[in-house]
Amino acid sequence: MKRIDLTGKRFGRLVVVGFSGQASNGNALWQCQCDCGKTMVTEGYRLRHGLTSSCGCYRAERMRHVFAQQQKSVSAGAHQPGAKNHSGVVGVSFDRQTGKWNARLFYRGKLILNKRFEDFEAAVAARKRAEKKCDAS
Ligand SMILES: [Zn+2]
Repeated sequence: MKRIDLTGKRFGRLVVVGFSGQASNGNALWQCQCDCGKTMVTEGYRLRHGLTSSCGCYRAERMRHVFAQQQKSVSAGAHQPGAKNHSGVVGVSFDRQTGKWNARLFYRGKLILNKRFEDFEAAVAARKRAEKKCDAS
């Protein structure tokens, strides 16, 4: 089988820099340079079939990203007062001074809702009710 020369070709983050011998299974091995700066050797068919598109840094980044997203949703779901002023719900914010949740709604330039609540759910419910009122009018 004739070897396809992959030198200089790009596969995802990898650029093939040269032939690197043959694997025990007969597949051609290629030396690749990753965008992150690392070099690695992989089989040609893995490159051509998109099985390898980085030295592994892409997967590591994805994992980090997913982990960060999970952390974010955990802290947003907890509604820990003090950590952040924002509740994640529009019109509802935590007031550090009073230790309460403020529900506000501006409609056509008027403040039609401005109330404080002991708990977050009550503030969100009030805000939702006010929004419905606006929709109805
Ligand atoms: Zn890399």
